[in-house]
Formats: sequence, C-alpha cells, structure tokens
Amino acid sequence: MPNKIKKLAVLTSGGDSPGMNAAIRSVVRTCAYHEIQCIGVYRGYEGLIEGDFKPMGARSVRGIINKGGTILKSARSKEFRTPEGRQKAYQNLVDHEVDGLVVIGGDGSFTGALIFNQEFGFPVMGIPGTIDNDIFGTSHTLGFDTALNTVVDAIDKIRDTASSHNRLFFIEVMGRDVGHIALNTGIAGGAEEILIPEEDLGLDRLVDSLNKSRKSGKTSSIVIVAEGDKIGKNIFELKEFVDENMEGYDVRVSVLGHMQRGGSPSCFDRVLASRMGVKAVETLLEGKTNYMVGLLANKIELTHLDKAIKGKTKINLELLRVSDIMST
Ligand code: ATP
Repeated sequence: MPNKIKKLAVLTSGGDSPGMNAAIRSVVRTCAYHEIQCIGVYRGYEGLIEGDFKPMGARSVRGIINKGGTILKSARSKEFRTPEGRQKAYQNLVDHEVDGLVVIGGDGSFTGALIFNQEFGFPVMGIPGTIDNDIFGTSHTLGFDTALNTVVDAIDKIRDTASSHNRLFFIEVMGRDVGHIALNTGIAGGAEEILIPEEDLGLDRLVDSLNKSRKSGKTSSIVIVAEGDKIGKNIFELKEFVDENMEGYDVRVSVLGHMQRGGSPSCFDRVLASRMGVKAVETLLEGKTNYMVGLLANKIELTHLDKAIKGKTKINLELLRVSDIMST
C-alpha cells in the first residue's frame, strides 16, 4: 500500500467504554507491524491541545487488552470547540511530525475530528467507543457487548432477591436517547416489561402487564427502564405510581449507573476492538481520511464520518416483538 504516513497519533475522547484499551493496543501494534511510529495522546482533545503526548511501541500496550477504561484517559474539551484550541492542537501534531489521527470515541468526538480535518486537511479516522450503541454505521460500538453482560449479571442478582421477597423491581439502565441496552438486557434478564426512549408503551400497558404476570403466578417482577424512557417518568416516579395505583406490591428501585461503563471487556469487544484498530490504521495508510470503522454483517466496513454523525440508529423491532411474546 502507498505509505506517505510515518507517524500516527491515537486518543480516546468523550465517555469511556470497555474495549477502548484493546483498540489502543490494536492501533499501536498495527503501526508497529507496518513499521510506522505511534504516539498516544492523553486526555483526548485536551491533551492534543496541551501536547500531552507519549510515544508508544508494541510493548507499551502489553497487559491492557483485558482492562476496562482507557490507559490514555478521556476528557471533554471545551477549548477544542474553538478555532484557537484546534489551531494549538494542529500545531502540536505538526511539531511532533504526526501524519494522521485515530479518534476512539462517540459522535461528539467524531464531529470534532471532522471539523479538524475540514480546517487543516489533517487525516482522521474514527473508532466508535461507547456503551450506548448509538452510532450509525456499526451494528456494535465498542463496549456495548460488555455493558450488556454487566447489566444482565446485575439483573440476575437482583432477581434472586426479588423472588425471595415477592418484590417488583424497577431497574434503570443507561440509554438517554436509545433503548439498545434496555431492550437486549430486558430480554436476556427475563424482564416483564421494558421501557425505552423510542416507544411510549404507556402506563396502562405497564399496569396490565404487571397484573397479568401476577395472575399467572409469577413470584417476582422486573421492569427494565432506560434513563430516557418515553413514558417520561423516572424509576422513582414509576415506583410512586405503582404504590399509589396498585395494591399488594412491594416495589423497589435500583439504578445501575456507572458500573455499566466499567469492567473487563468481553471476548466480543476485544476481538471487535482488535479488528477496528487494524482497519483504522490501514485505511489511513491507504491515504483515506474522514471515515469511521464499523461492524456491518460481521465485516469491518467504512462509513463516512459525516454519515456516522448524522445517521440515526434504529431500535430492532423484532426484539420488541420477542420481548412482548416472552413476557406472556
Ligand atoms: P459520548 O458518546 O460518551 O458522549 P462523545 O464523543 O459523543 O462520547 P462528547 O462530549 O459529545 O462525547 O464529545 C467529546 C469531545 O469532542 C468534546 O469534549 C469536544 O472536545 C469534542 N467535540 C464535540 N463536538 C464538537 C464540535 N462541534 N466541535 C469541536 N469539537 C467537538
């Protein structure tokens, strides 16, 4: 492949997700494989502006594939949203003779990368790292699968206590705008109902469903609620509603919170991160820019950053139907 690129930089930006370290490792080792240099940038765009750089070789990423979080740290940078901030970042890259940048993050990070490319013509590539799975152009973002496993594990544990006391549990999972985590973990965790931002199932249906499951002899009930569910009530308000309108329920709530972002990445996320890192580096080496790597029909494919940012992911309607049938 034509190779004018001699040195690449990699950074992690926005919210962290399990698998980011595996992606950093893959980028660094793919650079080593192709005998080009690699620089790690600490704290996302913040570190790019401050010149917080560290050369990385194949051995500097040993022992991180199984670690959650990101060894490069992540940040949200207000300064990178300004032309002056981006100018400083560009100058640092020029001073360090960097020829291309791999950004591991979400759509905000990709927006920054695209603007940066449009201003300076600097080659950029995106790797989608977020647990929410809300990025167009990939069936799975890095960290989604791990987060699903973490949540299902928590639901299983909560169910143990729920069924010992005949309780109804509302469990809140991450997902302000998308219900991918709620829908998948709701099915896998055997939830009676799943409330997501995409569909307003309505309180009447929730009441019907709970009554039905009680009549059918279920000893406990679990309702999974995405942070941004369309009914518009948070789980404390849902508890209040059931307390006031339904008799005989011992209702508890559990907010899983940030534990969903942590933990050792699953096998799936490690493999995905490794594949994405290779493709990101090799695409830059081919002289291409402004793409995100993604998984589509089990192939690593490229989607233009602009499309990845503007496109909307859709909830899987088949899963909604399966969830309906399973709660019978
Ligand atoms: P997450 O999915 O976890 O929210 P994200 O990548 O979408 O991840 P953001 O906080 O939206 O997270 O963006 C990360 C960083 O990208 C911002 O702190 C900012 O530095 C940069 N960025 C986002 N939008 C822009 C923009 N319009 N112009 C320049 N930089 C931007």
